Amino acid sequence: MSTNGKIKVATMWLSGCSGCHMSFLDLDERLLELGKAIDLKASPIVDIKFDQIPEVDVGIVEGCVNNNEQEEHLRHLRDRCKILVALGDCAIMGNVPALRNQFPVDAVLQRGFVETESTQIGEIPMDPVMPRLLAKARPLKEIVKVDVSIPGCPPDADTIWYALTELLAGRMPKWDERNLKYD
Ligand code: SF4
Repeated sequence: MSTNGKIKVATMWLSGCSGCHMSFLDLDERLLELGKAIDLKASPIVDIKFDQIPEVDVGIVEGCVNNNEQEEHLRHLRDRCKILVALGDCAIMGNVPALRNQFPVDAVLQRGFVETESTQIGEIPMDPVMPRLLAKARPLKEIVKVDVSIPGCPPDADTIWYALTELLAGRMPKWDERNLKYD
């Protein structure tokens, strides 16, 4: 908790389309209320230095883990947050990015950088400083402990609001079998 009594929060964007963060912004005027309760210490909304996230109470992650750099960033956040939240179906189970899991990495790179009709590169980048694609796109829970999952693609703003307000109240959000909240 910050010295001003606010809950410290960081959000992270891994392999996702940013739709989950857009849905977060769909909280609209509720963001003002949220701003009174949380201290947003890091977020791709304002910055992408995912390797410099400070210690926080709640870490919220959109997207699954597709490369070694994302794995490092996720572990970095896990080490620095008390509660880790998987935001959206990509973070929870791989979802769209995991569609590539049915093909070998080489075939995925060939398709993406060489064969895709819109490609302008024509060769697979080999620069060693670039993140290395993992053999499979992996949901967060296969790499670190996840405390809370917010389902949906994307979760709608009401669902995100429910989960965050429960966490702020010191409770764990709960979902029924249809992924709907219940009290
Ligand atoms: S869960 Fe859906 S909206 Fe969220 S990052 Fe994945 S594809 Fe995008």
